[in-house]
Amino acid sequence: MRKQCVGIMGGTFDPIHLGHLLTAEAVRDALGLDEILFVPAAVPPHKQGKDIVLPEHRLRMAVLATAANPHFRVSDIELHRQGPSYTVDTMDALKAQRGEQSEFYFITGADAINELATWHDVRELLQKCHFIAATRQGTALAREELYRQFGELAREHIHEVMTPELEISSTEIRQRVRKGASIRYMVPDAVADYIYKEGLYL
Ligand code: ATP
Ligand code: MG
Repeated sequence: MRKQCVGIMGGTFDPIHLGHLLTAEAVRDALGLDEILFVPAAVPPHKQGKDIVLPEHRLRMAVLATAANPHFRVSDIELHRQGPSYTVDTMDALKAQRGEQSEFYFITGADAINELATWHDVRELLQKCHFIAATRQGTALAREELYRQFGELAREHIHEVMTPELEISSTEIRQRVRKGASIRYMVPDAVADYIYKEGLYL
C-alpha cells in the first residue's frame, strides 16, 4: 500500500491566518501530499494571557479556518501533552497514532531550517520525517551548510518549495483587532467572526 503523505504545519496560530493556509496549500499541491495537519503548539501557562489566547480558542479558530478544505485537518496532540513540545516528541506521538503507513513532512520557513543544528534531537528528527522549507523570497535555504552538517540525511530529507509570500502575521492581526482596524481578507471570515464574538485580542 502506498504511504499516506502528511504535511505538518506547526505554530502558535494565535490566530491562524491566510499566510498559514496559503503556504500549507502551496506545499500540499507542489508535493502532492494527501493531507495537511495543523498542529497548534502548547504555550507555557506563564505566557498565556492577553496576547496568547487559550488553547481552546486557537484550536477552534484553526478548525474553522480549515473546514472548507477536505485535505486540511487539525490535531490537538500538542495541546494535551504536558511540558515543552519538542517536534521529535510530536512526531513520535503522530507515528503512534497513525502507524507506519504515514510519511510525515514537517513544513516550516527556510530561516528555521537553516537553524536546524540548534533543534532538540535533530538527527533523530531528520530520520523520522522530511523537512519542507517553504521558501519565501529573501530567505534562501543554506543547502551547502546543511549538507556539511547533516550529510546524506539532509540531502534525502530536506526539501524546498517556493511559496507565494503574504505579508501577514498573527502579531499584526492581534494589533489590528486591538485598535479596531479591519482584518478582513487577512483571516477567513469565520475566524474574524469568532474573534469578535469571543472578544479576543482586545
Ligand atoms: P506571530 O506573529 O505571533 O509570531 P505568525 O504569524 O508568525 O505569528 P506562527 O503561528 O508563529 O504565526 O507561525 C506558524 C508557522 O507559519 C511558522 O512556520 C511560520 O514561519 C509560518 N508563517 C507565519 N506567517 C506566515 C506567512 N505570512 N506566510 C507563510 N508562512 C507563515
Ligand atoms: Mg511567528
